[in-house]
Amino acid sequence: MGFYDFVAAAGKSSIAIYAKQVGGPVGAWIVNNPKTATATGVTVIGGYLFYYFTHQKYPAPWLDRRKLKSGLSKKQLLEDELTAEKVEKEEWDVIIIGSGGCGLTTGNLLARSGLKVLILEKHYVAGGCTHTWEKDGREFDTGVHYLGNSAKDLSATTGAMFDFMSDGNLKWSELDDNFDTVVLNGEDGEQDRFKFIRESKTIHDNTKASLLEKFPEEAENIEKFFSDLKAFKKSGLYLGLYKILPLWFLKPLIALGLHNRLFDNKAFTTTVKDYLDSITSNKKLQCILNYCFGDYGTQPRKAPLFIGLALIDHFRKGGVFPIGGSSKLTMDLAEPIAARGGKILVRANVLQINEERGNVTGVTVLPTGAKSGGKPFFIPAKKVVSTASVWFTNMMIANEKLRLQIDHLTPGLGAMYIFFGMDKAVGDLPKRNWWCYNTKEYDFDKTVDEFMSLETADFLARVQTPRFLNQSY
Ligand SMILES: Cc1cc2nc3c(=O)[nH]c(=O)nc-3n(C[C@H](O)[C@H](O)[C@H](O)COP(=O)(O)OP(=O)(O)OC[C@H]3O[C@@H](n4cnc5c(N)ncnc54)[C@H](O)[C@@H]3O)c2cc1C
Repeated sequence: MGFYDFVAAAGKSSIAIYAKQVGGPVGAWIVNNPKTATATGVTVIGGYLFYYFTHQKYPAPWLDRRKLKSGLSKKQLLEDELTAEKVEKEEWDVIIIGSGGCGLTTGNLLARSGLKVLILEKHYVAGGCTHTWEKDGREFDTGVHYLGNSAKDLSATTGAMFDFMSDGNLKWSELDDNFDTVVLNGEDGEQDRFKFIRESKTIHDNTKASLLEKFPEEAENIEKFFSDLKAFKKSGLYLGLYKILPLWFLKPLIALGLHNRLFDNKAFTTTVKDYLDSITSNKKLQCILNYCFGDYGTQPRKAPLFIGLALIDHFRKGGVFPIGGSSKLTMDLAEPIAARGGKILVRANVLQINEERGNVTGVTVLPTGAKSGGKPFFIPAKKVVSTASVWFTNMMIANEKLRLQIDHLTPGLGAMYIFFGMDKAVGDLPKRNWWCYNTKEYDFDKTVDEFMSLETADFLARVQTPRFLNQSY
């Protein structure tokens, strides 16, 4: 029984049990007027939830729709260096470690809830993987090359969130209809290309049609892939539930194995590789169906199916890029924090998350700016949120007993990327990505294994790397 069936069955039987137990006129009324009873129930529960969310100590962030301006320049906002004087007079509700997309969105929402937010960033500029740098009058983006079209779609959660958090300032430019092209170079010098074209009407109609044309003998397997793509969407809900359900509820559920009955966990327990092997033995098709594995940075044999399918689905309507570049994205998320009294300070290397009797008390931070004094000091705060990697976060937790059990995790792969500055006007360039692979037997796992085992000299002698070329603006 899937989760939806479970909820529906539980809902039906609890109404029936309730009606039976209450009996008398109320029970009879519920049984005889199911629609009115449901509407009354929804109104009462909805009213309660509305009261609950509007009477919290900290109001829900979406209630704060004021478009406040901090008046700070880009440099003041994203390159303000930490000194003790800048933080010691304030009482911080929350310290957030790291100013990437995660730190800024968390800070943005908490600041809108009325909390006093301090974001500490160890780099010289805020933004994490969305930070930018300049050379010869050009701005280079580090992390973001494109997002799925839902970032721009105000009817989708992602689009609505970006619009809300940026006070409607963030605007997006669409990539070309052919947003991604996969180039597979086989060992025998053979080259094959496949174009991903944004969906027009129904789910993946364009991509599916092109795949069916290219691999007619694989029609059944391609159909299965696209039907699985639709079905997997429930997994996103389950993932959300795993994150928000209280641990006292989840732990016994998992210990008894009941979670596998309640939720369909296939997308988390199957690897991308096992899934692709199960639907087709055509290696070239497997590569195309998993071409963007570079986005999640893990080999297909180690990655959960969920992330593999989620990415293909995320880009089904093509891609978008923030107008003004990643720095505009960073600015638009950062500005509302500063406008509400928050601070984003850079050259602030958090060394330790301090605690007393299991409760967090603040952080110890090393300022690394030239005028900072260079001595670590303590900043008190009621809460600390770390958006640094789980490895570094664990190392920062002073009390070893409070550290997370992460022995089962292994570090991800490192990558190198090269930036090109073009002299041509950007408006003349196509807006698209090329995913170029020199594949060993059309097997990404083997390709990466071989690459990782290369000595530098071998690498320089014959470039075997997967390459990703991006042009978004
Ligand atoms: C090359 C590349 C390309 C990418 N392309 C895309 C793309 O096209 N589309 C897309 O959607 N995503 C893309 N991503 C992924 C996306 O950029 C990241 O997933 C996202 O930005 C991560 O945000 P984050 O806040 O979790 O982490 P980060 O951005 O890594 O932020 C963490 C921050 O914490 C700081 N920090 C760590 N330790 C400390 C400490 N002790 N004290 C203070 N600060 C600390 C770090 O300096 C860093 O700034 C790409 C990523 C990379 C690397």
